[in-house]
Amino acid sequence: MRIERVLANNPGPFTGPGTNTWVLDDGAGTVAIIDPGPVDSRHATSILEIIGGRAVEAVLVTHTHSDHAPLANPLASDLGVPTAGHARGPGFEPEIRLLDGARFAVGALDLHVVHTPGHADDHLCFRAGNALFSGDHIMGGSSVMVEDMGPYLQSLSKLKGTGLERLHPGHGEEMADPDAVIDWYVAHRLQRHEEVFATVAGGASSVPEVVEVVYRDVDPALHPLAARSVEAHVTLLIAEGRITSEGDELVATPNSP
Ligand SMILES: [Zn+2]
Repeated sequence: MRIERVLANNPGPFTGPGTNTWVLDDGAGTVAIIDPGPVDSRHATSILEIIGGRAVEAVLVTHTHSDHAPLANPLASDLGVPTAGHARGPGFEPEIRLLDGARFAVGALDLHVVHTPGHADDHLCFRAGNALFSGDHIMGGSSVMVEDMGPYLQSLSKLKGTGLERLHPGHGEEMADPDAVIDWYVAHRLQRHEEVFATVAGGASSVPEVVEVVYRDVDPALHPLAARSVEAHVTLLIAEGRITSEGDELVATPNSP
């Protein structure tokens, strides 16, 4: 097995250095392309150059956000191979639908599909041996925007203690010791969860007010992103009965832990 990265030219506050496109080779010249990224002819050319004469099995996407999936169908159609992903999304149509627990053959490699909702409902991670292509479920060096907090935390624990040795994220650098990274992610999220609750208990009554307090040290350009994660924490706190939403006002439940 051999894994190579092609960095897309889309750096920014939401994408870090840019989207990582991964080329997974079974060791015998059959490859899969994971997360080709946004439509960008220069990036498509770079991917094709790296692939050279190798046989491509499919173009896979971890999820259908615009920095991961839109190049998939055009690239796959140029190569005459299928696209594969969990569901259709903006600018993406999977010819092969991948569900949790599915296995996908890349030449001699058996790729395991793990459904990991949280960052996005349609998010998949792909496991090859002890390596995991983690998309935006676990990112290198920047904080993940979470849409749905309960499933997100479950999707983290689902991967823990499964013998993973290496993470290949959708953004940022490769990471060793996945279990330690997952522990840190869970701890970080639970800490944020308590901060969001404490901020509402302290009088903040809306998501933007909570963002102002909890993310005061973070670049304001990232506040809209942070607001989505705070929203996800608030939804979970409401489900837990720790806060209520009265009209538009968030209120901590009396005697809530
Ligand atoms: Zn992304």
